[in-house]
Amino acid sequence: MAATTEPTVSAQDVAASADATKKKTKKAIADNIKYAGIESVMPVKLKTSNAKGRFIAAAKDIPAGTIVSIEKASASVVRNQSFSNICHHCFKPAKLKQMTRPRVDAQGNQIANQVEKFNVPTHSCTKCKMAAYCSEACQKEHAAEHDIQCPALAQVNSLATANKVMPENLRAVLALIGRRAAEKAANRDQAPDFASSISTAKPTPFGCVLDMNPNRHFTDREKLKDAENALKDLIALVPEHARVTLSEAVELYCIFYSNQHNISVNNQQVLALYPITSLYFNHSCIPNCVYVGEVDGVICVRTMTDVPADTELTISYVEICQPREQRRRDLLLTRHFWCKCRRCSTLLSKSVDRFMDGIQCSECQNGVMIFEETKEVQDINELMTDVAALDQEIQGKFAQCESCPAQIEVTKLVDVLKAAITDYGAAHQTLQTGDFNRGRLMLEKFIKDYESTHILSPYNAYLVNTYTTLMNVCTQMQDLDRAIRYNQVVVERMEGIEGAVPTNYPRLVEYHFTLGDMCLKQAKKKASNRTPLGRNTTRKYLSEAKSSLEKAYEGRKVVFGENSPSTQAAKRLFEESKREYNAYTKSLEKKKKKPAVPAPAPAAQPTSPAAAPAPAAAQAQKETSASA
Ligand SMILES: [Zn+2]
Ligand SMILES: [Zn+2]
Ligand SMILES: [Zn+2]
Ligand SMILES: [Zn+2]
Repeated sequence: MAATTEPTVSAQDVAASADATKKKTKKAIADNIKYAGIESVMPVKLKTSNAKGRFIAAAKDIPAGTIVSIEKASASVVRNQSFSNICHHCFKPAKLKQMTRPRVDAQGNQIANQVEKFNVPTHSCTKCKMAAYCSEACQKEHAAEHDIQCPALAQVNSLATANKVMPENLRAVLALIGRRAAEKAANRDQAPDFASSISTAKPTPFGCVLDMNPNRHFTDREKLKDAENALKDLIALVPEHARVTLSEAVELYCIFYSNQHNISVNNQQVLALYPITSLYFNHSCIPNCVYVGEVDGVICVRTMTDVPADTELTISYVEICQPREQRRRDLLLTRHFWCKCRRCSTLLSKSVDRFMDGIQCSECQNGVMIFEETKEVQDINELMTDVAALDQEIQGKFAQCESCPAQIEVTKLVDVLKAAITDYGAAHQTLQTGDFNRGRLMLEKFIKDYESTHILSPYNAYLVNTYTTLMNVCTQMQDLDRAIRYNQVVVERMEGIEGAVPTNYPRLVEYHFTLGDMCLKQAKKKASNRTPLGRNTTRKYLSEAKSSLEKAYEGRKVVFGENSPSTQAAKRLFEESKREYNAYTKSLEKKKKKPAVPAPAPAAQPTSPAAAPAPAAAQAQKETSASA
């Protein structure tokens, strides 16, 4: 997994002797033989190179929206926040039943005549209380795996607390142990199988899990020790026939930790392991593919753009709408490599990345200040232990305006950015307390302070994110007119610089959807206002709704496929917006044709945000299902 589209320097590479490199290449070639079956069901071919190791490429020209991989997880855990909401076997929403229990005070004494109501899944394991199912059938199907985990699962939370380990990570190890034992019992062949459709996908066998890199030496030593202590007690609770050794358990822990995918299924969060996807789809900060969580814990990798034959297929492991430095640090901390993808290795002055944390030149107020990073990260181990080393790099260096001779000390530039980040953080903290009014004012002040004064580039990621947050806050506050305006800015900025996000980038597609959805709602609400201004607004909203929803529909078709419920939802709204637009423009024409009895033009009504209908955001979010 620790590979990028371009050569990645990792500690292993540096230490590797020619022998080790040979061994690695040999392993990559052997893997390509083992996984070659994918080439007969998908338009792809498996390749190796000394620099990249394994990778996957288009076998022919592939249009956007083509499925290039379907994989069912080897093991998965429902995240804590979603624990009772979905089935731990098939991920369908769990049915809930209402229970009551006596209400108790802080001392644990029952409060007289008071009961508390709460929901629990209709089917859950009564022994460990750590697994929820949608049906008896799912519970039965999962029994072979669950029975092995059950006694240990019952102790997971207390062991996690005692050793300061994430319970989710411990559950992940148990899921892998359960998978291994169930496959052994069923005599399942450990060769990978490759599905050509979602419904026929079988979990990638445990044998493939061990092909992934545990990146053990990158995991913080102390944390690893804590995990080891928890795992020792945990595996002692696993039935003897299914037990693994402590060193095997640690290996599984590291494999899951550094290769997991966080997927969203039915709007719930699941951590899952996909060996084939992890082994072959390398990271790029300007990827041409996207992965989407489907029912049953299957992920589909689809092309986001048209991909010419022989081009490497890539996905992104991090949010790409953030500064280069931030992406690289995220990747370093979570995936243990220093990104040298094409985008990251292009000179900053020639890359769209110069805008992402761009500070405007105070002299010409035109160009952004550029500081080319000179540090070449050779030793990841050293960097992992001292991320601050990156900060020392800038001492005594100067940044240069891209369009005039102005220069500024990089440390001063960093101070500006730090001040912006502090203000940005303060506004978000205020929002978290639930004080939307004050939070909104702070965000609007942020724009005044940093954009209107030409301090930050309009494409600066903090500014764009401020508009995104403002859009959400205004939706919450039912001020849809402002929410629409902010949503428009976000879309303009994301599309404004070529190459910042790929066409059909899921986040952008969803912004088109929310924009179209809000415009349609507002247009309907304002349709009764027949003043010239009202008519104009309604028509503008309907026209924006139509074009945004068309983009959302086209984008979702690519990202999720034509038949996905979210694509169908966008299609329905798009068609509705077309109908509404046509009907409205027709009604205006009719009016024009009527003999002119000039009606007294009433004064333009100020639009009242207070009268807005139910919040659009909640609705829009509901419809934005399974995004990766
Ligand atoms: Zn189920
Ligand atoms: Zn149980
Ligand atoms: Zn990169
Ligand atoms: Zn300048």
